[in-house]
Amino acid sequence: MSCINESVCKLCRRENVKLFLKGDRCYTDKCSFERRPYPPGQHGQSRLKFSEFALQLREKQKAKRYYGVSEKQFVKYVGEANRSKELTGTALLKFLETRLDNVVYTLGYANSRREARQLVKHNHFLLNGKRANIPSILVNKGDVITVAESSREMVKIQSAIQAVARRSVPAWLEADHAKFTGTVKDLPNREDVAVAVEENMIVEYYSR
Ligand code: SF4
Repeated sequence: MSCINESVCKLCRRENVKLFLKGDRCYTDKCSFERRPYPPGQHGQSRLKFSEFALQLREKQKAKRYYGVSEKQFVKYVGEANRSKELTGTALLKFLETRLDNVVYTLGYANSRREARQLVKHNHFLLNGKRANIPSILVNKGDVITVAESSREMVKIQSAIQAVARRSVPAWLEADHAKFTGTVKDLPNREDVAVAVEENMIVEYYSR
């Protein structure tokens, strides 16, 4: 995850959407975006007119922040999406969705993508039976993600499992929280991706 620090709530306000970067807090009335749903700063509440370029930039920033990837990683995904046979925007979202850290979060084994990234880096998960500590690994159809046996009682993981009822696991994944596993039933389609971004604008931004 790129330089995301304590002021993460400002990112939601800047992008004018809830990015769910703080786990539990995002679902409570302590959520800053719920209380102040306008951009931070002196001119936050003014109605500004944005150029096409500025709108494209904001969509790109929103997606980057939602998934917590660096500009360098993001550009790499755009390049790979350009080379794929799918629509570039759809392929880009598919790359982002199938990152191991996103899958761990989506399965309900972490309270946020940021936390998922940390947990993966600290060796708390197995991918197809082998330790996997690289958050950017892309999962494939049929892959099985397992919480390492020694990590199953961790407070973070337990609290995430208890909280997952607040968000549903999408159809392309299957979680078995009793067994601490998750299976990639299929690769995600565009409609499986919950993030509210207009991927075409991101593609246009990088096509300039
Ligand atoms: Fe965003 Fe969560 Fe902060 Fe709300 S609490 S502003 S959703 S990071």
